[in-house]
Amino acid sequence: MKHEFEDQWRAFEKAGISRRRFMKMLVAAGVLTTFGTQEAKALSSNAKGKIVIIGGGAAGISMAARLKKWLNTPDITLIDPSEKQFYQPGFTLIASGVYKPDEVWKKQDDCMPDGINWIKDNVVAVDPVWNQVTTAKNGKIAYDFLVLAPGLQINWDKVEGITQKTLGEGNAHCIYDFEGAQKTWKAIQDFSKTGGHGIYTDTYTKHKCGGAPKKICLLTEHYTRKQGTREKVNLDFYTASKELYDVPYFTPRLLDIYEERNIPINLNVRVKGVDTARKQVHLEKIATVNDQKTVTPLIEDYDFLHFTPPMSAPDFVRDSGLGWTEGKLAAESWAMTNKETLVHEKYPNIICLGDVAGIPTSKTSAAIRKQVPVAAKNLISIMEGKAPAEKYNGYAACPIITDYGRVLLCEFDYNKEPDLTFPFNLLDASQEQAAAWWLKVYMLKPMYFYGMLKGLA
Ligand SMILES: Cc1cc2nc3c(=O)[nH]c(=O)nc-3n(C[C@H](O)[C@H](O)[C@H](O)COP(=O)(O)OP(=O)(O)OC[C@H]3O[C@@H](n4cnc5c(N)ncnc54)[C@H](O)[C@@H]3O)c2cc1C
Repeated sequence: MKHEFEDQWRAFEKAGISRRRFMKMLVAAGVLTTFGTQEAKALSSNAKGKIVIIGGGAAGISMAARLKKWLNTPDITLIDPSEKQFYQPGFTLIASGVYKPDEVWKKQDDCMPDGINWIKDNVVAVDPVWNQVTTAKNGKIAYDFLVLAPGLQINWDKVEGITQKTLGEGNAHCIYDFEGAQKTWKAIQDFSKTGGHGIYTDTYTKHKCGGAPKKICLLTEHYTRKQGTREKVNLDFYTASKELYDVPYFTPRLLDIYEERNIPINLNVRVKGVDTARKQVHLEKIATVNDQKTVTPLIEDYDFLHFTPPMSAPDFVRDSGLGWTEGKLAAESWAMTNKETLVHEKYPNIICLGDVAGIPTSKTSAAIRKQVPVAAKNLISIMEGKAPAEKYNGYAACPIITDYGRVLLCEFDYNKEPDLTFPFNLLDASQEQAAAWWLKVYMLKPMYFYGMLKGLA
């Protein structure tokens, strides 16, 4: 922790920000007070039972750390094959040259809370009736209580002509992948020199950090301005949605930014495939007139492409009968989760959180920071034989980087109302701000590794 903050200090000093100001900003962001008071120690329970956590990402490790603190005799097994813990919000900053790749990950061993039985394996099925999970290599593992936190599955195969492995071919890129983010940064630098047509897309399913495709588009635009080559590129943003952003408090400014930067927004368009040899992206324009849906195919030439693949709950969630089977969240089988208590709607000994959860909010680690205390307290109540009483209000945050140096920090709840938690945002949260850039680039990463994952923030 000390080491990391010293690194941050050095970075701040290089950027001309004094240590005093940096400390003030940390206090404002609630980082230091949280570490200082160790508020998370407040609860103490003698509840007993074997807890199995599926997934050791943002949600799984944070839950393990909280439960470890709050239970007097914790019995926690965490199943996850990954040896590395990635701070995925940093992928956008790798793709824009702000972070080096090695700055966004740590060894999973160093993030795992002490005393957790970590099984390095993949879960392939859950039997929620007999309370057991099946793993790829370690057979069946029984549980009394299950925490479902395996994140989401990126369905690369749903974009024809390109795979996760071939990212970068035909200058088609995607920052939702660690290697992909690195290739994107090289490509943006080349693109700013050669110029041409840049196309950016999101996708029609819920996807993690809905802001990421918008951020990389705006960052490319600003990068070319910084390089003095803006007139050589023309950029287009394609969204599968009927609007660019759906949080009314923040949307007007975002639309203005796209207009000011001369980046047209094309609505209701999906990516079908990429012809990397011809550098053409195959799109589908969806229109609904009088309840009749029409699909018009389009082919666009590009010189640089950033696309977003469709995403869903991992297959084992659907196959194990844990996903929604009706409603808007059924197609991708997001876990059937009560949006307030985070308890599974069908199985009361399963808690779901993080990207896998089928709840109507954005899939971000910021949301998980607020979900974890609710999920952990409710799980403990259930273990104690009480009803889960804590409620999550749908808080999510998406720091939309609008340029090198400013961020539109979108924080909102289930009602799409602003839910502002960072005090310096009081300046005018509906506009992009330099302070939010410092938060994004210098504070959120240490907050993740040393706050959230330690069960403190
Ligand atoms: C490019 C990009 C930009 C982003 N920007 C932001 C941002 O600015 N702000 C923000 O708040 N969030 C951002 N996010 C989103 C954020 O990273 C995710 O919402 C968050 O990591 C989700 O946490 P999770 O624990 O649900 O899933 P993850 O952190 O993805 O962890 C899932 C874990 O489950 C494990 N797992 C998967 N399947 C299995 C299985 N079958 N068995 C066992 N283990 C399994 C995986 O190995 C992994 O360790 C961004 C993400 C990306 C990719």
